[in-house]
Amino acid sequence: MAKRDFYEVLGVGRNATEAEIKKAYRQMALKYHPDKNPGNKEAEEKFKEAASAYEVLSDKEKRQKYDQFGHQGVGSSAAGNGGYGGMNMEDIFQNFGDIFGGHNPFESFFGGGQSRGGRRYVNRGSNLRIKVRLTLEEIAHGVEKKIKVNKLVACTTCQGSGAQNSSSFQTCPTCHGQGQIRRVTNTILGQMQTTSTCPQCNGEGQVITAKCKTCNGSGVMHGEEVISINIPAGVGERMQLTMSGKGNAGERGGVPGDLVIAIEEIEHSYLTRDGINLLYNLHIGFSDAALGTSVDIPTLEGKARIKIEPGTHAGKVLRLKGKGLPDINSHRRGDILVNVDVWTPQNLSPEERQILEKLRLSPNFKPNPKKGEKGFFERMKEYFH
Ligand SMILES: [Zn+2]
Ligand SMILES: [Zn+2]
Repeated sequence: MAKRDFYEVLGVGRNATEAEIKKAYRQMALKYHPDKNPGNKEAEEKFKEAASAYEVLSDKEKRQKYDQFGHQGVGSSAAGNGGYGGMNMEDIFQNFGDIFGGHNPFESFFGGGQSRGGRRYVNRGSNLRIKVRLTLEEIAHGVEKKIKVNKLVACTTCQGSGAQNSSSFQTCPTCHGQGQIRRVTNTILGQMQTTSTCPQCNGEGQVITAKCKTCNGSGVMHGEEVISINIPAGVGERMQLTMSGKGNAGERGGVPGDLVIAIEEIEHSYLTRDGINLLYNLHIGFSDAALGTSVDIPTLEGKARIKIEPGTHAGKVLRLKGKGLPDINSHRRGDILVNVDVWTPQNLSPEERQILEKLRLSPNFKPNPKKGEKGFFERMKEYFH
């Protein structure tokens, strides 16, 4: 893979200001963040690529060298093989994590302001995704769901340590307990220092001399947990809720991942959701439309009776105020919109036919719409805009 131009990677011009470069990198990092793209190698490469570009372009001196000498000018990870294998994710988070500022959407991932000691990401458990199916009634009022989740839990034999007992540990001989290895590379422009995770202890700083027999040293095992999830009123299809720390346990005492809950809506037998409103199609008889009547409309809280005025046209929309769904942010409730559909009989007895033939000639049965009365298309336009 040929190395792409760093300005091109971040999508900024050669004269971009520091602020523009930072902004561009933040956007890329958010887009390709591994939390948002679990298991996606391509996103990970893009994330690393953006980090490499930012590493150079955010540093005045490195940027100058890069402008003058290109990739050759800026050190080991840029020279040679062209990939980003030299840079690992942990380094990126440590070096550039603070670009997200204090209110980043990955606060839990970055440790929410804990000390930047470098151990936070060691053995973090993976995120777990589950689907929760909800009825409109549950969505209307919010619901607590208790769900049994199969996941990795801390090994019960070794309490997650992975070791046979408390004396089965020794300081990692490769990194002497640091968890990291510093490497100094000579380039034509001087020495460059890079830090990477120790390959022997995987950043933990210690190694196990006698592994727990139950989990074979991983510190985790398959288990299940009943998790109680509070779902707020007004959630929608494809919305995601995140419960921090309720995902898979991390190996050997690492922080657990998150539980990501995807909402799915169970179709209602009568009502169709449209945002916070609910749509209901009501069929009434031809005679009821002319003479007027009262009908029951299903709502999420039992039935509601509405009056059909004499002379109601097909396509009239009646509104049951406040019988829709709550807005997740404001808790203002939507309405039920009742579309009146007048049923035209399709099979007629000779007697019915006779009556209708008579009515056909009656002047009141001739269509006589009021001037300016809104038709179907105007009403649809009004509703959807
Ligand atoms: Zn164990
Ligand atoms: Zn080590």
